[in-house]
Amino acid sequence: MDTEISSKVFQNPLILERILSSVLDENNTISNQYLRLVSKSFDHGYLSFLKKRNREIRIESMRASVFVNCEKVEIRKLVSYFKFLNSVVKVNVRKVEVFGTGELHSAFRQPVHDLILKGFIEGNYNSIEKLVGLTDLCDGCTDCIRMSVTCLDYGPI
Ligand SMILES: [Zn+2]
Repeated sequence: MDTEISSKVFQNPLILERILSSVLDENNTISNQYLRLVSKSFDHGYLSFLKKRNREIRIESMRASVFVNCEKVEIRKLVSYFKFLNSVVKVNVRKVEVFGTGELHSAFRQPVHDLILKGFIEGNYNSIEKLVGLTDLCDGCTDCIRMSVTCLDYGPI
């Protein structure tokens, strides 16, 4: 294919969004990060796609794993994933829901709570309207209670 035509196709944001949404299903955005290297428009499209997808965050935990909007993230990589969402994707999160906390291994409860609160929510403090389920991991620490002042919807699941 003529490279000039193909580059024009990939610079069209609508076409690019369709391509990316067909490639990036709910649980493989991390493994497909190489798409950012294809071109500047792919990089921009990829980050825009993630920004849109992560306006509402559903965090589910199962024994020793955490799923962020269905994306499996190892607990030891959670801090860098949240940093990526905050600093690179520049998410503007409105809602955070934490599910399945009873399934999480007891040794991970406090670290996961702290990672969600300090590593993720603090960077989105002003945009978060809903925060539910996080207090199930700490039984209502002072930092969580502070969030109840600014959230419209706050509390346990
Ligand atoms: Zn707490």
